[in-house]
Amino acid sequence: MEKALFVIDKEDNFKIQKHKIKRINYKTLYKEDFELSQIINKENTDFLMFSRNNMVKDRIDFGNFLHKLKIGYSSFSGIDDDEWEDQTKQCLNDFFTENVKLGIKSSKIKKIEQDSKKTSNLIFDMEQLGGCRYGLPRILKILDRYNVKATFFVTDIVNKTYADVIPTLVKMGHEVGLHGVFHEYLQTMSKDEQTKHILRLKNRFKYDIKGVNFVSRMNNDCLKSFKKNEIRYFIYPHINKMKNISIPCRNLKLKNDNIILIPLCIETYDKTFEQIKNEIIFTESKNKNKSDNITVLMHPFSDGSKSRIENTERVIEYISKDRCSQTISQTMKKNNFKIVKKFNIDIKNKYIKTLYDIFKFGF
Ligand SMILES: [Zn+2]
Repeated sequence: MEKALFVIDKEDNFKIQKHKIKRINYKTLYKEDFELSQIINKENTDFLMFSRNNMVKDRIDFGNFLHKLKIGYSSFSGIDDDEWEDQTKQCLNDFFTENVKLGIKSSKIKKIEQDSKKTSNLIFDMEQLGGCRYGLPRILKILDRYNVKATFFVTDIVNKTYADVIPTLVKMGHEVGLHGVFHEYLQTMSKDEQTKHILRLKNRFKYDIKGVNFVSRMNNDCLKSFKKNEIRYFIYPHINKMKNISIPCRNLKLKNDNIILIPLCIETYDKTFEQIKNEIIFTESKNKNKSDNITVLMHPFSDGSKSRIENTERVIEYISKDRCSQTISQTMKKNNFKIVKKFNIDIKNKYIKTLYDIFKFGF
């Protein structure tokens, strides 16, 4: 059983039993890191469980904070301002109940015309309970409307809490990949530990898992651990000199390695439709081949919230209009890769350093 530390705002009133709780002021979350790290060490905490997120209340982003502590997380926060309290209580209850069935209606799979269209992959990271319960059903309706098949990276916490979500996604023709047990940092483990960890995780998901998304929570050992577990691809941010994620977006095959790096081109976090559209146009203009794939990363807790769902629909409509929007595995079948000799994940590496710089955008 994984050990959670509940991080609750002083004003929040939730009943939490049998778990360690730390009451804080979310507005000054960043001043709490020392005290929290001491509790984490003392209690052997596996992950932090937040009562809020950056879509509600004071909109506190904890990306940098988690990265500093190198600890996994989830959140039971609601995602809509007007219903925050009820949604949050519901998600907390779901977490303690486990195996909750959301009963999302799955649609019939329509065949997507492949033709010679450009391809794109919509990617959804799902590590927060509110995003799964409230954001996901809204997003799935839109994907269905535009006949888009997407790839979802789900943590095991979400999987354990909402038992029918992964089967529903698979039934609808979407792809499911690994996002960790609780969004953990693989670089805190040895190579052997990583290999066993990925195997355990793969077994819990029961489906044929081809891809993982651990972005900046990896080190060089991870590529070997993935390979040992027959993982075919991993997601990695592609960053240009402007410190934006982007270009060129060709899928890369690591030399002498049968594993594909899927570059992350665009991240929707907090951006308007116009900003996202401009990034897509910019990225495609820099692609060498007209047929090069683009990837767009979204988060159901954010893009599925009431405040962003219209924006999200416009993005999905735009992407699917003249691009074949399919799962990553479907795109990989086309075998359109560039071979790269070297790929190094190194903390001293400029590439990763740049990654730290853009952390505020929500990795
Ligand atoms: Zn994530």
